[in-house]
This record gives sequence, structure tokens and C-alpha cells, in this order.
Amino acid sequence: MNAEITCSICGQTTAREVRRTKILGKGEHQVIVENVPMISCRNCGHDYFSIQVAKMLDQIRSTPQKQAMQKSFAVVELAA
Ligand SMILES: [Zn+2]
Repeated sequence: MNAEITCSICGQTTAREVRRTKILGKGEHQVIVENVPMISCRNCGHDYFSIQVAKMLDQIRSTPQKQAMQKSFAVVELAA
């Protein structure tokens, strides 16, 4: 179990770190980033990145080829 941390949005100690998959960019420049640490708060419902992670994502977005592995995968769009 992760320790609960203080949410920087609502200030309650109801947030914790979770790992999510993020998709950056569009079309052929799209990059899927797995295991992105995010802060998720169950009090206010916000999910957000730490400044450090936001910077790393900016870096990946500007130079995706450097860190990318080419994988093939199926993409399903959920029409809800
Ligand atoms: Zn919160």
C-alpha cells in the first residue's frame, strides 16, 4: 500500500500515487507512455502529474524517437 499524500489541489491527505498509461501527440508522432506516475485524489477526484513527471513528458513529446520502442498493438476506440 502506498502512503497517502497531501493533494496539492484540495489540501487533503487523500491522494496517492498511481501508474497510468498516457498517450502523447497525434497521428504518426503519437507515443504511448506506460507506467506514468500520477497523483490521484479520491477527495476532489483530480489526477495530476508532479512537476518532475510533467517535465519528463514534455521531453518525451519533443524527442520521442530517443526513448521509444517500436511496438505494434491493437487500438480500440470506445464509442460510448
Ligand atoms: Zn484533492
